[in-house]
Amino acid sequence: VLPVTTVLPKPRLDYRAISESIVYKSHNAFNRKAPLPIGALQSVKRLSSKLGLKRHARSNLGEKMRKIKDPIEKQAVLEEAKLLKVEVTDLEHELMTVEDILLGLALQIPNDTHPDVPLGPEEAAVVLSTHGSDPIAANGNRDHMNVGRALGILDFEAGATVTGSSWYYLLGEAALLEMALTNYALSIALKHGFRFVTTPDVVRADIALRCGFQPRDQNTDPPTSQMYHIASSNPSHPELVLSGTAEIPLGGMFANQIFMEQVLPLKVVGLGRSFRAEAGARGTDTRGLYRVHQFSKLELFVVCSEDTSEQAMEELRGVQTDIFKGLNFPFRVLDMPTEELGATAYRKYDMEAWMPGRGSWGEISSTSNCTDYQARRLHIRYRRSSGTPKHAPPSSSSASTQSAPAILFAHTLNGTAAAIPRLIVALIENGAKFDQEGKPVGLDLPSTLKPFWHGTSSIIQW
Ligand code: AMP
Repeated sequence: VLPVTTVLPKPRLDYRAISESIVYKSHNAFNRKAPLPIGALQSVKRLSSKLGLKRHARSNLGEKMRKIKDPIEKQAVLEEAKLLKVEVTDLEHELMTVEDILLGLALQIPNDTHPDVPLGPEEAAVVLSTHGSDPIAANGNRDHMNVGRALGILDFEAGATVTGSSWYYLLGEAALLEMALTNYALSIALKHGFRFVTTPDVVRADIALRCGFQPRDQNTDPPTSQMYHIASSNPSHPELVLSGTAEIPLGGMFANQIFMEQVLPLKVVGLGRSFRAEAGARGTDTRGLYRVHQFSKLELFVVCSEDTSEQAMEELRGVQTDIFKGLNFPFRVLDMPTEELGATAYRKYDMEAWMPGRGSWGEISSTSNCTDYQARRLHIRYRRSSGTPKHAPPSSSSASTQSAPAILFAHTLNGTAAAIPRLIVALIENGAKFDQEGKPVGLDLPSTLKPFWHGTSSIIQW
């Protein structure tokens, strides 16, 4: 399951909690349409008790071995000692295999679900709030490709020639818009206490997997990949992929660390290029800038204690609302239903902007509370200062699950501050200006962006 080039210890899953809540876990996987192989949960239970038995047998053998060292019996049991040694080695080998199988099965189980999450497919999403002016009428002339081409600021043909379809160039005002949007959104994240980080865009496949991204989707035949792999002729090199989101390097930067509870929450905002193979994507969603293979994205990431992640999710929503309110287009916040949560999210809020050229609302951001799902895989922990935790502790040993542990797995959250191409779509389609013949002649942009704009332009009005 895990690529061999891992630099972290194996993920630490709570097998005991999993095997004790099989009914919940099965319903949960069903509601989320999670690709859970039939019987995987039963196997976890069966293997987890087998593992317990093997561990018990191993400690019995240890006892016996110690007795064999008794000088009085030494001569008589020498042969038996040799046999026992072989038996112990075999057992340890089997133990490792059982642990690996157990881990492989348990890793496929999706996160638990917040009790308020609506049940069902995308259409079951609940609108939590709507912001901005009333949506203007849908109008194909406002399509961002039409306007962007007419103004000479978007070039998809050069992108197709140089790389392929769904690759693009932003020219002049569109490229300057990328810079202005990034710096505008960053300024708001900084005001909310986030620390700015620029991240590697190339990550180990293992780190992506631990963050919940499948470098290769084994459920399709042949396996497809939503990530771009970096080829290496040297099998001993780590398997590397282009990051699909700065969430991966941001999560990875906290891996294998224990934080004092007092320093939490840790709030960072990362700027990265996101690379998406978008295998299987087709239809109107792939038009123009809406679904592309590479885009700039400013991403918010939080590491916090288990008691504070729901509050942190509301804070993230507050930061995003501040950012999008300043951009003057209509947008709404959705509580996403079970089938839209993916493997990692306990709860997910999406935000959608009105895009009159497309004639529909289009997703511009996504916020997830991943609770301890990523932290258990990445080993992100904290030392609690006081109080008793609500959930089971990180140790898999049954003894320590009885008492409140000092060290717990953290909760992690991520949210989009600015996914640049989708914001450009919303700004162009809402802000396009036309002459009397209906020809695009310019753009009205929100004055909040002006302090972040370089140069002058004859087609932009503030
Ligand atoms: P995700 O990390 O998939 O939740 O995406 C975060 C945000 O990035 C989404 O809300 C979209 O606004 C944007 N986005 C996702 N995929 C693409 C894509 N292929 N092209 C352009 N924008 C995207």
